[in-house]
Amino acid sequence: MAVAERRFRNYIAGEWVDASSGEMRPDENPADVREILGFFPRSTEVDVDRAVEAAAEAFATWRRTPGPQRAAILHKAANILEARAREVGEALTREEGKTIGEGVGEVLRGVQILRFFAGEPLRPFGEVFSATTADTFLWAERVPLGVVGVITPWNFPVAIPLWKLAPCLAYGNTAVFKPAELTPLTAHLITEVFIEAGLPPGVLNLVHGPGSVVGEAIARHPKVTAVTFTGSNAVGRHLYQVASERGAKVQLELGGKNPLLVADDADLNFAVELATSGAFRSTGQKCTATSRVIVLESVVRDFTEKLVERARSLKVGPGMDAATYMGPLVSEEQRQRVLSYIETGEQEGARLLTGGHELAEGDLRYGYFVAPTVFADVAPGMRIAQEEIFGPVVGVIRARSLEEAIEIANGVGYGLSASIVTRDIRKAFDFIRSIEAGVVHVNSETAGAEPHVPFGGMKGSSSFSREQGRAAMEFFTQVKTVYLDMPPA
Ligand code: NAP
Ligand code: MG
Repeated sequence: MAVAERRFRNYIAGEWVDASSGEMRPDENPADVREILGFFPRSTEVDVDRAVEAAAEAFATWRRTPGPQRAAILHKAANILEARAREVGEALTREEGKTIGEGVGEVLRGVQILRFFAGEPLRPFGEVFSATTADTFLWAERVPLGVVGVITPWNFPVAIPLWKLAPCLAYGNTAVFKPAELTPLTAHLITEVFIEAGLPPGVLNLVHGPGSVVGEAIARHPKVTAVTFTGSNAVGRHLYQVASERGAKVQLELGGKNPLLVADDADLNFAVELATSGAFRSTGQKCTATSRVIVLESVVRDFTEKLVERARSLKVGPGMDAATYMGPLVSEEQRQRVLSYIETGEQEGARLLTGGHELAEGDLRYGYFVAPTVFADVAPGMRIAQEEIFGPVVGVIRARSLEEAIEIANGVGYGLSASIVTRDIRKAFDFIRSIEAGVVHVNSETAGAEPHVPFGGMKGSSSFSREQGRAAMEFFTQVKTVYLDMPPA
């Protein structure tokens, strides 16, 4: 069967099934829209309802499945994904656009995530307390929530679903998984991996379709106990209202406007490399991407010159081409959004130094390419300095002192990640203490996170909860306190 003819399905109650609507949507390659990777169902509330019912039924058994058995399935899933890393990485690159190095790297990150959470059912999940009476045995244990809705974005279509699904399942919950409509193929492959690993029917259900219908129905479904969401602030806040209104537990991981501070003692070539990677890897489409570089006055000229030179040198093209540094935007809609921000920046008076336009030479015309873009003379209050652009655009902001740089860094509604380049330990500590960010880097780029440590933002970037590592237990479980007394002799 040619890939272009492949019609995919939802996975509900252990079966691959068509959506009730019968409608399908093509999955295109953003580097070359002539390539269609397959057709995916546009599901409706009816399909969500079936998936939730299946998950609710499976929960009764899955929650009682011994931890070591759940662990074994996750271990097996890790091994299967590792064996298929190249294939899944290629699918990721073809449907999302990032480079093949990043695509395969993300899948291997997914393998690490699965391995970490495969260990979780074997680790302690409670505390024992003393009681005021001699014959009372008193403990508090972590128990699963029930059916969890897992709603994910397109920018890390393997890692994000896995860092939600792995803990969700490890701690004994069942899941209804709604991936982004732009990246359904990787979601399909992840689901296949879990099936092959022996996950029982109904424990993981995959429902493709538009967020406004399928995501909404998950958020509203009375049998969905919790919803974990990563995506934009607008959708996240809306979903929070809808789901928490009916008493569901909700976790949000949202956008960022992440700053890289360059102190006056910094090695500028090193700083430029961190800025370049942070701003342009994955085409700037990381929640932790560097979108503001705040540079001390005395070095801003040199730094900016070097950054522009580096941005101009980057090879832009299809992610499957091994020489490519930066791939396309994920969709025409995203490209238009990015171009419109570039226009806004120019209108606001920022100085466009390089990029700022589409790239359409030769075969690039078939993809959603935009040149790496650098603005200078960006003022902290400008929209391009305040709003998440989510593309290959970085603005250089000048600061008179480190204190002012930190103030500018904190002067946005977001607080996901932040970094400083300095050799001065005092400056590093001032920054660490004052910066309002959930993830702080010193002498490394704003993007990048280890899979076994807490991840999440402050302020508008999150809902105070953390993902990954043992921190995931907070969201995916609840506490049951047990007083066990001896019956009268
Ligand atoms: P998005 O538009 O908010 O979509 C995220 C998910 O929500 C998608 O699956 C989407 O479905 C679904 N959705 C849309 N409307 C919905 C509704 N009314 N109810 C329920 N679900 C709905 O975000 P995106 O454009 O995919 O991703 C980019 C954003 O994610 C950026 O803001 C980025 O910063 C953020 N992000 C944050 C993190 C983090 O950990 N903090 C990580 C990565 C990305 P459709 O596919 O149909 O739209
Ligand atoms: Mg979207």
